[in-house]
Amino acid sequence: MLKEKKIGLIGAGSMAASILAGLTEKGEILPQNIALINRCNQKRLQELTQLYGLNEENNKPERILEADIVILAVKPKDVAEVLKCWGNRFRQGQLIISVIAGISTSFLESGLKEKLAVIRVMPNTSCAVGLSATAVCSGKWVRPEDMEIACHIFSAIGSVFVVQEEMMDAVTGLSGSGPAYFYYMVEALESAGVHAGLSAAAARDLTVQTLLGAAQMLVKTGKEASQLRREVTSPGGTTMAGLEVLSRYRFDEAVIQAVLRAKERSREMG
Ligand code: NAD
Repeated sequence: MLKEKKIGLIGAGSMAASILAGLTEKGEILPQNIALINRCNQKRLQELTQLYGLNEENNKPERILEADIVILAVKPKDVAEVLKCWGNRFRQGQLIISVIAGISTSFLESGLKEKLAVIRVMPNTSCAVGLSATAVCSGKWVRPEDMEIACHIFSAIGSVFVVQEEMMDAVTGLSGSGPAYFYYMVEALESAGVHAGLSAAAARDLTVQTLLGAAQMLVKTGKEASQLRREVTSPGGTTMAGLEVLSRYRFDEAVIQAVLRAKERSREMG
């Protein structure tokens, strides 16, 4: 699907690297069809060009303007500069995909001279290992085939979920910030393991494998989390004793409030 397409990437940071890694590993793109540009850090540009076998000759503004798909992968603070530089130059027919957190499609559309298809994407940091939970939403001028292309690109770095744009703050609070919630839980479990007498290394290994196994159980069995929880909780057993303590400390309420606060923070920042 993408082999015929020319792709331009503005911003050669971590996100661009994850996208390039996913697409090249899966053989989805022809490296010679990629144009990549970066501000200031030319060493970084060369690094990615070499790593993913791109053609250095393509790393020019003219090539970005020739691209069928342009991916904006800069930090939110740099979006104004990008629109100032490119907003009048993108041409009719180009698909613009933004991974910039908190920047709406209408904001981007208002910075473009042409009425272009703009798609906004919210991956999470697990894209670095190809396991992002990525939400995708469309702007005003997006056709179904544009959405299909965007979903195809981001399925190379994980799973893709199409949402309405008004859900993006909720997505940010849940899956955007989500990896950190699990890391926090892992930190607590590691420390609990040490309190219970295990070495730090054993506590870490046991915790990480338990998390991985629980995630795979959810994916592979397709069962609800509550069902899996009930299945491993015998009346009067050890798991029940532990869960009763989590419930007494209102674990679920803490998690709900954390996601709602992160959602609100995302709205405040947008
Ligand atoms: P990064 O800082 O690693 O990379 C951004 C790159 O853009 C830098 O190399 C910078 O030099 C370049 N840049 C800045 N202004 C530019 C310009 N005008 N022209 C060309 N290049 C320019 O950032 P990142 O982690 O790759 O994140 C990029 C975007 O993706 C951010 O908006 C972030 O919110 C979003 N995002 C990232 C992740 C992630 O896992 N890294 C997850 C979700 C969303």
